[in-house]
Amino acid sequence: MAYAHPGQSDSLVRFAERYENFIGGKWVPPVHGEYLDDVSPVDGRPFTRVPRSSEADVDLAVTAAHDALPAWSATSPAERARVLLRIADRLEADLERLAVAESWENGKPVREALAADLPLAVDHFRYFASAVRTQEGSISPIERDLVAYHFREPLGVVAQIIPWNFPLLMTAWKLAPALAAGNCVVLKPAEQTPASVLLFVELVADLLPDGVVNVVNGYGPEAGKALARNPGVAKIAFTGETSTGQLIMQYAAENVLPVTLELGGKSPNIFLPDVLAADDEFAAKAVEGFVMFALNQGEVCTCPSRALVHESIWDEFLDRAVARTEELVLGDPLDPATQVGAQASDEQLRKILSYLALGREEGAEVLVGGGQRGVPGLAGGYYVEPTIFTGTNRMRIFQEEIFGPVVSVARFSDVDEAVRIANDTRYGLGAGVWTRDGGTAHRVARAVEAGRVWVNCYHAYPAHAAFGGYKRSGFGREGHVSTLAHYQQTKSVVVSY
Ligand code: NAD
Repeated sequence: MAYAHPGQSDSLVRFAERYENFIGGKWVPPVHGEYLDDVSPVDGRPFTRVPRSSEADVDLAVTAAHDALPAWSATSPAERARVLLRIADRLEADLERLAVAESWENGKPVREALAADLPLAVDHFRYFASAVRTQEGSISPIERDLVAYHFREPLGVVAQIIPWNFPLLMTAWKLAPALAAGNCVVLKPAEQTPASVLLFVELVADLLPDGVVNVVNGYGPEAGKALARNPGVAKIAFTGETSTGQLIMQYAAENVLPVTLELGGKSPNIFLPDVLAADDEFAAKAVEGFVMFALNQGEVCTCPSRALVHESIWDEFLDRAVARTEELVLGDPLDPATQVGAQASDEQLRKILSYLALGREEGAEVLVGGGQRGVPGLAGGYYVEPTIFTGTNRMRIFQEEIFGPVVSVARFSDVDEAVRIANDTRYGLGAGVWTRDGGTAHRVARAVEAGRVWVNCYHAYPAHAAFGGYKRSGFGREGHVSTLAHYQQTKSVVVSY
């Protein structure tokens, strides 16, 4: 049975008609009084409104964060850990409602939000609550009467700008390490998915001192740009498109700020010849790994959007992959049976359809899918069939991020060729390799230029594994204890005695 849609009397979620910015612990209307519509991709209709913020709103938020900074940065790691653990508990207790809200706003299948996005967000807060308590400084004896010791201090007020594909998980990835390290935050959600983030903030607001977390809504080139350029900000952590990341670096240069950039990808998923020769359970697992291209409708930065399949298994493997893709259940995201939901926005839908046309123009062959799909009762929604193209790696559909449920498949004849094709991209975010041969798996994992390589699995995001890009996929890492250092600066004190 599908969850009732927000707006229906028995829905778990009640969105307000309008939200405000969250500044200094209060809900604050935008200075210029302007709002923008938040549209559900499930049916294409607006369901709430959020502030269209300007520089004046960003200034208020940065000031509120500075007001909160002295007290928050002086708390002990243990105190901050306690707050993070309480946030995690709150999230966990309200997981189902938040999953329904996120599914409605983003279009992702509620089963994924329930099984992955929300539990991972909860765990991220718990992980950094633990990680910050393990951090220790160091003491360097220099000479008999000279010693240096080191502190890790928070950076100050950090700007965090996130995309629309995982609104709650990206919020957790950003907030947890920044808060654990003692920073105050001004967060700007994507204009397509602000309400999930605002529900989260509403839920945990009383657990945080006023001003420690502030949320300013609005468009990227307005509120986002004003935030990234604000002179009161000490760091920018950004997740989004590579082209926006380039702008963020320019803004950061104005105030000499450190940046973390988690950008786009065109991740290769490599299937070696023994995938089908091994036991059938392994082959089935590899086919499941292939169809991960449709997870979250392909709107994942690490979407395995290029599959490289060995020529000796080409026909049989692709027959199985096509059959499995045809079985994927596309429909109402709020139905727990649905495996492929709606694309996040009308703009994204049109972008994906233009790439489906481009692939055909480039001479790629469509093995399955290839078009828009109507869902009964949800005529205004944005649904695209999971699509498999075959072609060659220099085609634009192999080189450009489509960010839809589309995989472009090329063949290779030996491992070196697979690695060469895998690395023939400007991106370097994720990669997968499937084989029972451990030595080959490790060699390929070392040779592929990507910040995250999965061996015989895909799309696993444990909080304690560092995540981030090589090449144009960005720099800096999230997850893993080392991320704390991205939100800290080191002070050395040299003492003569
Ligand atoms: P986007 O770059 O359009 O927007 C991301 C955020 O930046 C939004 O909040 C947006 O409002 C803001 N923004 C846009 N222009 C801005 C500007 N000039 N100044 C400041 N802020 C600005 O990206 P998107 O379309 O929301 O998200 C999809 C992209 O995100 C894809 O490229 C995807 O690969 C990437 N992504 C990367 C990761 C990762 O961890 N590497 C994770 C998720 C998504």
